[in-house]
Amino acid sequence: MSTTVKDTSAESEPRFPLPPYKSLGNEALAERIAAVRAAYGKELLILGHHYQQDEVIAHSDLRGDSLQLSQMAAASSDCRAIVFCGVHFMAETADIVANRPEKLAERDGLRVPVILPDMAAGCSMADMAAIEQVEAAWEELGEVIDTSDVTPVTYINSAASLKAFCGQRDGIVCTSSNAAAVLEWAFARKRRVLFFPDQHLGRNTARAMGIPLEQMPVWDPFADELGGNDRAALEASRVLLWKGHCSVHQMFTEQHVEQFRAKFPEIKILVHPECPMEVVDQADIVGSTGKILRTVEEAPAGSQWAIGTELHMVNRLKTEHPEQEIHFLSPIVCMCATMYRIDLAHLCWTLENLQADTPTNVIEVDEEVARWSLLALERMLEVK
Ligand code: SF4
Repeated sequence: MSTTVKDTSAESEPRFPLPPYKSLGNEALAERIAAVRAAYGKELLILGHHYQQDEVIAHSDLRGDSLQLSQMAAASSDCRAIVFCGVHFMAETADIVANRPEKLAERDGLRVPVILPDMAAGCSMADMAAIEQVEAAWEELGEVIDTSDVTPVTYINSAASLKAFCGQRDGIVCTSSNAAAVLEWAFARKRRVLFFPDQHLGRNTARAMGIPLEQMPVWDPFADELGGNDRAALEASRVLLWKGHCSVHQMFTEQHVEQFRAKFPEIKILVHPECPMEVVDQADIVGSTGKILRTVEEAPAGSQWAIGTELHMVNRLKTEHPEQEIHFLSPIVCMCATMYRIDLAHLCWTLENLQADTPTNVIEVDEEVARWSLLALERMLEVK
C-alpha cells in the first residue's frame, strides 16, 4: 500500500513560491491572501494548527488540533477547498475525513481538494515509522509471539499508510487525549499492543494504567534483529513501544522542571504526554493540546505556569492570558520547525494557484489506504 501525494502542478513547476512571493512583504501578502479568501467566501477553509505561527493563524478560519480541524472542515456543507496550515499527516487525515464515501455522495462525487502550502512541512515523529519498517517488524514479531493477539495502535501523528496498517489488522488510531481509553479498548480484545510511532505517549499512558516498564520493550527498527530485544522480553511484553519521538517535546528535561521549581515555588508544571517519562513524572498536570489550553483558560488570574509544549502555542497563551504568568518550560527554542515552513508566501502562492484553477500541493490519499485508515479512525471515534 502506498499513499499518493498528488501534485497537480507540472513536473517542472516549483513546489515553493519563487519571486514575486518570496520578495513580497507580509503586508502585501496579507492583502493578496485576504482577496482570495473574500472571493471564495465560505467555500474555502484555511485551517491553522495550534502550533502554527501567529501570522499564519491570523488568516485561518479555524484553529485546533489535527483531528478537530479535519472534523470541523468535513462538517461544513459549504466547503469546496481546504488549505491545511499544519503538517503532511494532518492534510492526509483531512483528505480521508472530508472525502470519505458519504461526504462524496453528499457532493455528487465532488472531491474537496486538501492543500498543504509547503510539501516540506512534514512531521519528524511520523517519519520515524515508515510503513515498510512497521510491516517488517510485524513479520519479525510473528516469529516470536502470536501477532493475532496483538493490537496495532498508531498515534494520529503518523502517515495514512500506518493508519491503514492498523485498520487492516483490527487495530486503531489514538490521539493524545484518548490514548488511555484506546489502550483499554485494545486490552479488552487482545493481550498485547504494538504502539507507534511515539514511544513517550505509549509509555506514559500505559504506565499510568499500571503496566510496568519491564513489560514495555522498545522496538528499534534499525536494530539487527528483533528490534534490539531478546525473545524473553518480547514474550513478556504487554506494550511494544516503537522507537520514535517528537523532536519538539523530546527537548524538555527534568532539569528544566527543577530550575523552575527552585525559582518559582508556587509554579505549576503543565506538559504534553509526548514529553519523556522523567518530565511527565515531575509534572503537576499532563495533557493533550486541548487539555493544556483548557487548563490555562480555566485557571484563576495570577496562576503561574511553566508549560512543556510547542513554542508558538505557549507564546500565544501568554498573549491571550496576560492575567496569568506563563513561562516556556525550556530555555532552548522548541518549535515545530517543519510546521514553521508554512509562511505567508507559501500560503499566498497556493491560494492564488487554487484561484487560477492550477492547484498545487494537493494531498490525495490513495483510495485503498484511505478506506482502511478511515476504519481505524472510526474505531477510535467509537471509543468513549
Ligand atoms: S510538534 Fe512534533 S509531533 Fe507535532 S507535528 Fe511537529 S514534529 Fe510532529
